[in-house]
Amino acid sequence: GATTPSPDEGFQEEEKKVAAKEAARPIQIVLANEEEHSFELDEAALENILLQDHVKDLNVVVVSVAGAFRKGKSFLLDFMLRYMHNQGESWMGGEDEPLSGFSWRGGCERETTGIQAWSEVFVVERSDGSKVAVLLVDTQGAFDSQSTIKDCATVFALSTMTSSVQVYNLTQNVQEDDLQHLQLFTEYGRLAMEEIYLKPFQSLMFLIRDWCYPYEHGYGLEGGNAFLKKRLQVKQNQHEELQNVRKHIHSCFSNIGCFLQPHPGLKVATNPYFDGRLRDIDDDFKTHLAELVPLLLAPDRLVEKEIGGNKVTCRDLVEYFKSYIKIYQG
Ligand code: GDP
Ligand code: MG
Repeated sequence: GATTPSPDEGFQEEEKKVAAKEAARPIQIVLANEEEHSFELDEAALENILLQDHVKDLNVVVVSVAGAFRKGKSFLLDFMLRYMHNQGESWMGGEDEPLSGFSWRGGCERETTGIQAWSEVFVVERSDGSKVAVLLVDTQGAFDSQSTIKDCATVFALSTMTSSVQVYNLTQNVQEDDLQHLQLFTEYGRLAMEEIYLKPFQSLMFLIRDWCYPYEHGYGLEGGNAFLKKRLQVKQNQHEELQNVRKHIHSCFSNIGCFLQPHPGLKVATNPYFDGRLRDIDDDFKTHLAELVPLLLAPDRLVEKEIGGNKVTCRDLVEYFKSYIKIYQG
């Protein structure tokens, strides 16, 4: 740039970045109020994250993991953090390193419907020399009553509108009500977008945890895509409602994929003392995790957020959040 920072300023910048990294944690940016069925955007928190000097003018990549509570979202996000922190062959870390990050509060985490973002925004340089800012987002909610489903739909719509890749985290299979929920989210999102673009959303990745039919469809992306194709097929003899859900989902996203992830093993699923160390995780799970995470986050696979065909900076994203939340508060 035109102004080179003095060595002193450069040093201070660097110190600030180190401090931000050490203090990094999940920050609640959108909160659903369960009693009033209302939503609140914590503008100050969002601005603190996205208006940091070193990221505010970079194009943003928003990777969100969305789904119900207790389905391993934080666990996955913690590995995504590891990847962002140490790219290279051994990004997954040492055998006995406890996991930390989104799951830092452990079991006492209050289960609130809403959106959390990781406070540290990652700057990634791609092979063409361009830099992008990567924001990691956790979106969760309960689906146990009609009213919570509606709240969830709103929160999920908001996170789908503001992310470039939405990972829809499911367990074991894609059930009909998972698709119906998805239809509801995207319907809300579509209504909220003032201009109707051909495809209002970007990428959707179904992530099926604990996949237990590897002999029908193999683990990973290829098996997942084949499985999803079958699951989303519109058939003549299908009930009209089932047909519509499927057509609708296809019409909303420019890109849909599916990844089948094996079960992590009993220690992960049931041992209360499990702290995330690799030693306690089944090899099959780790092998496919090593495939999944770079698929979403490798520098040259990162998908920049676009709205109406235009790339969005961190600074722009703050404004989009503010205007989208207003729609639901109205
Ligand atoms: P979240 O509420 O969706 O963020 O779920 P967490 O990441 O906090 O995980 C909830 C519980 O599921 C923890 O005990 C994890 O150890 C466990 N877990 C994490 N990943 C998986 C998975 O892929 N399969 C199973 N069965 N359990 C998992
Ligand atoms: Mg969680």
